[in-house]
Amino acid sequence: MRYRNSRDVLGTVKNVTVSQSCGKWYVSVQTEREVEQPLPNGGAVGIDMGVARFATLSDGTFYAPLNSFKRHQTALRRAQQAMSRKTKFSNNWKKARAKVQKIHSRIGNARRDYLHKTSTTISQNHAMVCIEDLQVRNMSRSAAGSSEQPGKQVRAKSGLNKAILDQGWAEFRRQLDYKLAWNGGHLIAVPPRNTSRTCPCCGHVSSANRQTQARFECVECGFEENADVVGAINVLRAGHARLACEVNGAVMPSAAGTHRSDSGAAQCPRLSAAGISGLQAGEDVNEPISWPPGPATPLLRSSRGVIVHRHSILMEHSLLPFVSFSSTAGTPA
Ligand SMILES: [Zn+2]
Repeated sequence: MRYRNSRDVLGTVKNVTVSQSCGKWYVSVQTEREVEQPLPNGGAVGIDMGVARFATLSDGTFYAPLNSFKRHQTALRRAQQAMSRKTKFSNNWKKARAKVQKIHSRIGNARRDYLHKTSTTISQNHAMVCIEDLQVRNMSRSAAGSSEQPGKQVRAKSGLNKAILDQGWAEFRRQLDYKLAWNGGHLIAVPPRNTSRTCPCCGHVSSANRQTQARFECVECGFEENADVVGAINVLRAGHARLACEVNGAVMPSAAGTHRSDSGAAQCPRLSAAGISGLQAGEDVNEPISWPPGPATPLLRSSRGVIVHRHSILMEHSLLPFVSFSSTAGTPA
C-alpha cells in the first residue's frame, strides 16, 4: 500500500489509530512531548460571524465565505438523481452511491481545510479573541411554522439556514479555542445581544442604525462603518468588559460592554479601524484594566482552567496521509 508521510512524528508515540473513510485510509498518531509554554503574539480582537462575510475582525480584515456545500450542490444533486435511477443494491447502484459519498466527503474536507487555515491565522496573531456566543441551532430553526400559523418568507429563511449551516461556526469556534490555548491566548465568548445595533462611537442602540444588511449608520451621531466591522468592535468591547468583570469578581451584567450610559455625541471621536485599540475595558465597569494582563494575573490560565506553567505537556495528534490536520486535536494536559 502506498503511504505518504504528511508530517514528522514529534515526541513519544502513545496511540495509533487507523481509520478508513471513502476508500482512503488514515493513520492518526497521538504523541506526548514537553513544549515550552508559548507567549501569545498580538493583541485583542473581536470577530463577527456572518453569511456574506464568514468572519469580520474588529481591525477591519475579513474572510470571505467558502460555501462548500453550495459549490458542490449541483454535482451532489446530479449524483443523487443518478443513484435513484439505479436498481437498489445492484453494482451500478453501488458505484453511484460511492460517487455521492465522495462528493459529501469533498464538501467536508474543503470546509475543514478552510476553517483550519482561518483559525490558525487568527490564533497565531492574537492573544485574546472575542467571539459571539451564537446558538446556531436556534438561528437555523425551520421557518415553516405550523399549519395554523405558517411561517413567513419560508423560502428565504430556508436558504439562509442552509448558508448558516454551511459555514461551520461551531467547529470554527472549537478550533479557535484549542489553538489559542496552544499559543498561550484565550477565547472569550460574549452574549450576542445588540452587537449589531449598538453604535461603537456614542453607544446609541437602535435597529434603525442598521440601514442595510451591509451598512451601519448611527441615527444619533452619524458614525458610519461596515455593519460587520461594527459588530466585531462591539464583540471586542463586550469581551473586554467580561474580562474586567472576571478580574473584579463582579457579576457580569447581561449586556456588559454593549452599552455606554453617559457618553454623548459631542465627545464622539471618529473611530477609524486603527483607533479601535483605544477601546479599553468596558465603561460599565468601575476599574479599567490594561491589556495584556501581566503574567501574574490569574487570567493567564488556559480556557480549560489549567494553570499555565512554563512547561506543559502538549498532547498532539497528527494525521498522516492526505489530510494535514486532524479533527480530533488534543488538549494541553
Ligand atoms: Zn453614534
